[in-house]
Amino acid sequence: MSDQAIVPDRQQQLPIYAKAHISSAIRFLRQGLPRTGIDNDQARLVIGFYCLATLDILDALESASSESEKEGWRSWIWAQQIRGIWGSGFRGSPGAATNQPASSEYDPPFLIMTYAALLSLAILRDPLTQLDREGLRKYLKISQREDGSFKLFPTSEEYDLRMTYCAFSICSMLDDWSSINIPSAVTFIQSCRTYEGGYGQEPNNEAHGGSTYCALASLHLVPPSSNYAGSSALLTPAQHAQTTRWLLHCQDASETGGGFAGRTNKVQDACYCFWCGASLDILGMAQVVNADANASFLLECQFRFGGIRKDRVSNPDPYHTYLALASLNILSKDTTNPPFEEALDPLWNARASTQLWLKQRLHATPATAAPA
Ligand SMILES: [Zn+2]
Repeated sequence: MSDQAIVPDRQQQLPIYAKAHISSAIRFLRQGLPRTGIDNDQARLVIGFYCLATLDILDALESASSESEKEGWRSWIWAQQIRGIWGSGFRGSPGAATNQPASSEYDPPFLIMTYAALLSLAILRDPLTQLDREGLRKYLKISQREDGSFKLFPTSEEYDLRMTYCAFSICSMLDDWSSINIPSAVTFIQSCRTYEGGYGQEPNNEAHGGSTYCALASLHLVPPSSNYAGSSALLTPAQHAQTTRWLLHCQDASETGGGFAGRTNKVQDACYCFWCGASLDILGMAQVVNADANASFLLECQFRFGGIRKDRVSNPDPYHTYLALASLNILSKDTTNPPFEEALDPLWNARASTQLWLKQRLHATPATAAPA
């Protein structure tokens, strides 16, 4: 059955099935991956992050989980911190190592897992005193390639804008950019720009919603003290207009649409409602999105018994669940449905109080207001 075969009646917008999504996220955290998800075992940390972020964005972590449970999750995440010849960072699960204990060249940290670990620990309100900052700085330095891009893990040949975004986010969380070469990294980001106005994962790749988000968020994370700060210095007015136009064209304007596609001439998919929607928010253009149509599509992607799907017919998963909620949060600010407690920061992809928690624990000059 195709997605388009289901013609929604949009006279009345669906409610958000928050209770069901909370139950689904908690079930994943308590029971782990289903047998069919065993291929994703090495990415357990990032899957856990999407579940925790779902609870955080729905303001449900406190009510849905016990103190001892949260302590168990914090301990498990810290057990993934690697200290070795590559410096220090996080792996996705014990299964990501090819030998034990975790200290050899065969047990490397991953940038994506390190980004997810820091945010997860902040959601769980961990004091972050166990973080090996010196080791993390060494790892960031080792991860950067000569062309400015960043490697998936230290011995990997794989590099793309996802890793650049994670490295920039980690530097921003630490408020310490001393271990990376910003000008070189910015040059790499610029080299991924395409004729359409979006960004590919690497130079000469097709424009893609996910990598466009990674590029724009990275450029906007560069600190004000750097010569590379601010979109005006990085995107010319003509580039800004071209990128905005391409992103807006990714939104499906048909009667059963409203969602965003990740590439030109592809079908709408819930995760791109975040990647493209947050990109437009970063560019200061969220107000020109058809937010009601986007919300209608995402709410139709909900599975009644918990979780959100990439479309109206696939199975739900933690990744699409969280990113759909994040898109609703960012683009539906002026509506009452759904009523999120707090706005989401589009650059870190974190709720405001979670972001503040990290800043207060990791920044040399901490933010002033204390979160409750
Ligand atoms: Zn998707």
